[in-house]
Amino acid sequence: MTVRTRLAPSPTGYLHIGSLRTALYCYLWAHHNKWKYIIRIEDTDRTRLVEGAVDAIIDMHDILNLTPDESVRHGWLYGPYVQSERLELYAPRLHKLCEEGNGYYCFCTSERLTELRQEQEELKLPPGYDGHCRHMPLEESREKIANGEKYTIRLKVPKNETLVFNDLIRGRIEFNTNQLDDTVLLKSDGIFPTYHWAVVIDDNLMEISHVMRWEEWISSMPIQILTARALGITLPHYAHLPNVLGADGKKLSKRTGDVSVSEYIKKWYLPEALLNFLSLLGWHPGHDEEIMSMQEMIAQFEITDIHKSGAVLDPIKLDWMNGEYIKRLDPGELHARVAKHLEQYEIEFYTHIFSQKNYDFNHRIIKELQTRMKRFDEFIELTTCLYGEAGTRTDLLVNTKMKIESIEDAITSLRFAIPILETTDFTSLDTLKTPFIGAIIEAWKKNGQVLWPMRVALSGEEFSPGAFELAYILGREESLKRIQKVIDIYS
Ligand code: GLU
Repeated sequence: MTVRTRLAPSPTGYLHIGSLRTALYCYLWAHHNKWKYIIRIEDTDRTRLVEGAVDAIIDMHDILNLTPDESVRHGWLYGPYVQSERLELYAPRLHKLCEEGNGYYCFCTSERLTELRQEQEELKLPPGYDGHCRHMPLEESREKIANGEKYTIRLKVPKNETLVFNDLIRGRIEFNTNQLDDTVLLKSDGIFPTYHWAVVIDDNLMEISHVMRWEEWISSMPIQILTARALGITLPHYAHLPNVLGADGKKLSKRTGDVSVSEYIKKWYLPEALLNFLSLLGWHPGHDEEIMSMQEMIAQFEITDIHKSGAVLDPIKLDWMNGEYIKRLDPGELHARVAKHLEQYEIEFYTHIFSQKNYDFNHRIIKELQTRMKRFDEFIELTTCLYGEAGTRTDLLVNTKMKIESIEDAITSLRFAIPILETTDFTSLDTLKTPFIGAIIEAWKKNGQVLWPMRVALSGEEFSPGAFELAYILGREESLKRIQKVIDIYS
């Protein structure tokens, strides 16, 4: 089977995280079958266009490395298919539909349609077109058109018929045509098709074999089935994907979490971690190993393993998965990615702080944080005490759990640490740590008794890397300076 899939976004805003999951599933299925993933921009609803939305869709695909396998020429450039650049394909075939009796010209003005809707509302009737122009003879319609009257073209929906289609995830779904309206297929400008017409024409012309899209599009199936029947064409296979839900069990919204893909990129989830995480929002590969490379996902992906019920986007799991990916990166690669991300999103921090330090200092910090960092927006938070002055939370020095009952106890411990730090070898974390621990044991002290006040003095923060990591990153001179400063405050 030749598998061709498409993402068909309308450029009406940012790229939604759920749409990225759709894109990923389309990409996985196409590549699983060694064939093509395509993007088609559906921009026929001109009132909802948002500037920059197409660029955002393309940029996100680039960043995530989901390159479409087919592109078309737009003037000088190549890019996705764009419906507004293919307008000549839609209207002519619609006139034929009217001649064949499967569609008709409708001359109802928008005033009439508004009145009709108001009347229906008052009488508590379901809204819908009343078929006013449905039986107008073709000759009469042609005359009106020749006289310059404006028209739309509607699909002539048959009455009392049951339509059936087989969804690859949900199985058999039936509709009764009595619930349907004679849907508009060509707008009153005589050029632009509506979504239903353009989608059926394009899926056919572009030989799309499988359509994957949000479950809310199930309701558009009967019109698309009838449209295809009128055209005498076969529809693709359909898989309507489960919704992506927020923590409240409702469709993910800004209230319950980030929805825009660019927000996730900004927090710097690694693209490979984000895609791996999204792949599991609805798909169960039949084993419990959750970390999967793109190659593994492609090899294992089956549409029939996608479940029907909505999938909750759990940010804690995403953080965990991202942390796992961070841990597995080569430290040099991690360093390069941190630097790139900071340069792109945290310009201030990058130019004034990060790039002012030498490579080794930055590298030591990054290596220390490698097992601790879940997201990159945590980088600045976790490193403030390392890049700048120590924080000011010396009130944390006393800690009865660590057997530091008073400030005097804390100062005694800090005084104990000074000569050790003056003489130990700072070349690696181990050369620093081993003799230090030896000295603590020799002095009959407990680790926490020395390391707690030392950590507080070095960081001045409630949460930070451990005392040895801090000392190692800061170096001998800065560590001694920070400890002495605390001693001076209390002496
Ligand atoms: N243009 C539709 C959207 O914005 C696509 C629906 C479909 O995939 O058929 O989601």
